[in-house]
Amino acid sequence: MAPTRTHLAEARRIADELAAIVRTGSVLPGSIVERHMVCGRPNCACHAERDRRHGPYYQWTRKLASKTVGRFLSPEQHEDYEAWISNDRRIHELIRRIEQLGIEALEADPRTRRQQRGAP
Ligand SMILES: [Zn+2]
Repeated sequence: MAPTRTHLAEARRIADELAAIVRTGSVLPGSIVERHMVCGRPNCACHAERDRRHGPYYQWTRKLASKTVGRFLSPEQHEDYEAWISNDRRIHELIRRIEQLGIEALEADPRTRRQQRGAP
């Protein structure tokens, strides 16, 4: 059973966009959070007032085997790597989209039997 023409046309669009993103090489998992922090000086105003905290500092984090790992980034790194993270998100969206087309194809296949209780 071959995919339909519209399925194939969309698959090609997905492949083109995926290839264009991957070719940039600018792909980074995780996310960047902005942090405002208290310092070690005991009399600093940052301890008493939230908006006197220091920052912003940018922290890149990602989940690694259910543990979160992070690195602090310079402001320039923050600007650069935001685009890399967007690319990573887009890649995952595109993969979910091609998977969804596969699911729809299976569901539309006349040989697919409706799930019945107790049926194999
Ligand atoms: Zn402080």
